[in-house]
Amino acid sequence: MAERPLAQVLGLPVDAVDMAGALSLLRTAIETHRPAQVVTLNAEMAMLGLADPAFRTVVENAGLVVPDGAGVVWALRRGGQPVGRLPGIELTQALLGLAESEGWGVYVLGASPEVNAGAVAEIVRRHPRLRLVGARDGYFTAETEDVILSSIRSAAPDILLVALGVPRQEHWIAQHQEALGVSVAIGVGGSLDVLAGKVQRAPVLMQRLNLEWLYRLLKEPWRWRRMMALPRFVGAVLKERR
Ligand code: UDP
Repeated sequence: MAERPLAQVLGLPVDAVDMAGALSLLRTAIETHRPAQVVTLNAEMAMLGLADPAFRTVVENAGLVVPDGAGVVWALRRGGQPVGRLPGIELTQALLGLAESEGWGVYVLGASPEVNAGAVAEIVRRHPRLRLVGARDGYFTAETEDVILSSIRSAAPDILLVALGVPRQEHWIAQHQEALGVSVAIGVGGSLDVLAGKVQRAPVLMQRLNLEWLYRLLKEPWRWRRMMALPRFVGAVLKERR
């Protein structure tokens, strides 16, 4: 892979790339059949990286870490590393567009059976010529996991979307990607819920004002405890600089 333009947030690597740069790295991974795990880093994940060495290792070993969250972008800019936000859902959508024109195979793993089916239907509607090689919901047991792994292996996708929630999806990809022979595996979190129309993204104005996190808190108030990671993240970044 080409040299990665790496920046750092709380000691974690982040690729200082825009959409074109990210897609170019992923194209190289696919064309050279080299596994690249994509991590879409936000404040909550960065805090997890501080608390959990195993999660930190996963982020350090990822092939591409994109600045998904407004907090991460703020921290990078503050440290003199100016990058724009690159939300995982937008990267995923762009990657699917490229997959359609390049003939790359895509497998969609995760979310509830209804959301998985709804997301797949929407993906096919948007990308009618996409080579969708398989799909499966994310509520499997340890017993059925082997069946899923061999189904992915025989479908031989170039790209695997994994929606199992953070941090399970990141660990799952790190554990299985190499054996699956998948070039690009991306933890997409709630993106399938958005594609299926179950969850809406914030209005564009709120996205521009970096308030997508606030919209999510208002819509899904039960997340407040998890979202306390954001002010803790701000505190950790300020402390690190001092
Ligand atoms: N999910 C899953 N299996 C699980 C847990 C979660 O497929 O065992 C799915 C869930 O249905 C959702 C996605 O993972 O579609 C992301 O979950 P959540 O929004 O809780 O995670 P986040 O992205 O906020 O970490």
